[in-house]
Amino acid sequence: MDKIMAGIETRLIHAGKPEPPIEGAVITPIFQSSTFEYTGQKNYHDLRYIRLSNTPNHTGLARKLAAIEGAETALVTASGMAAIATTLLTVLGGGDHLLCQRCVYGGTHGLVTTELPRLGIETTFIDPGQPATWKAQLRRNTRAIYVETISNPLLEVGDLRAIAEFARTHGLISIIDNTFATPINFRPAEVGFDLSLHSCTKYLNGHSDIVAGAIIGARDLIDRVTHTANHLGGALDPHACFLLDRGLKTLAVRVRHQNESALRIARCLEQHPRVNAVYYPGLESHRDHLRACELLDGFGGVLSFEIEGGVQAAETFIGVLTLPVSAPSLGGVESLVTRPVTTSHPAMTPAQLAEAGIADGLIRLSIGLEATEDLIADLRRSLSI
Ligand SMILES: *Cc1c(COP(=O)(O)O)cnc(C)c1O
Repeated sequence: MDKIMAGIETRLIHAGKPEPPIEGAVITPIFQSSTFEYTGQKNYHDLRYIRLSNTPNHTGLARKLAAIEGAETALVTASGMAAIATTLLTVLGGGDHLLCQRCVYGGTHGLVTTELPRLGIETTFIDPGQPATWKAQLRRNTRAIYVETISNPLLEVGDLRAIAEFARTHGLISIIDNTFATPINFRPAEVGFDLSLHSCTKYLNGHSDIVAGAIIGARDLIDRVTHTANHLGGALDPHACFLLDRGLKTLAVRVRHQNESALRIARCLEQHPRVNAVYYPGLESHRDHLRACELLDGFGGVLSFEIEGGVQAAETFIGVLTLPVSAPSLGGVESLVTRPVTTSHPAMTPAQLAEAGIADGLIRLSIGLEATEDLIADLRRSLSI
């Protein structure tokens, strides 16, 4: 009989497993073998080889990722940037044009502004919250539209349903980086996105011990992306596949705790007299709160805020915190704190930062799995110094 896997929690544990289990092992072993015996394949892309992402560790993960986002299939890659670069280089070619959300992840911004132009691919930045402004940016050669579910570092949520609809109407491929939301809070296929991308380095693995990426979507598109990936070479190592699969099993409990903890912490910070602004889509005061409520099942584990005293005060505050580690990245079990201007957004000019509303002293916090009360006590104590 087929396993009953209606709930995402069940799919996180059981989907994609080899049936029957290999040698009865409850946990799928690591296939640390670069190459596999030839069995008459006629096509290079069908040979079994780690770079072709078709070892049992890769295919099992791909089935699980597809199952948790309600999509047909998936591909894992060596990093989030490998997923993003491979996808864009599949759907775009010389002479093509991309519409891209204006405030995207720093690496993505660098890719579309410095690498793609060398291949003759142009990008226009759009405001994902203003559907009325998109049509004027369309060109005859526009092929795709690229957004993020929750942006970094101000946690903006665009009009995602309208983005997917706009793409369908105008024959564009819609691509969304779902890293910040995770499939616990948002499943892009449900609102009609063609491709969902992840930096699995963050929540999906969740333990800050590997770098990995994923591309999830319909089979025909993922087949095309896989073909490109096989040539570009950014495949995930089997041991990292194993760790990612293990991390995924606890995704639902981790992210729900982080949703809850981040909301409580955001509320506390908002009431603190030394805090000037808090950005978290779960707060009524957030610009995109209503849209976030309509689209998301939870608001995620990242928030950002500004404190009185600007950069100097922010540096002092980060220095005296005892639990959050001062480090870039997010989504792990340890809370991390960083100033986006120095880590994730260093390439933006002062004018670009000002236009995006990112203050020099802005502090970003990724909530881990520590006791919420301890984190609040640490934040309060550090704000009083
Ligand atoms: C970290 C991150 C990436 C890049 O992922 P890597 O795994 O570091 O290559 C892409 N998008 C978002 C939203 C991220 O946070």
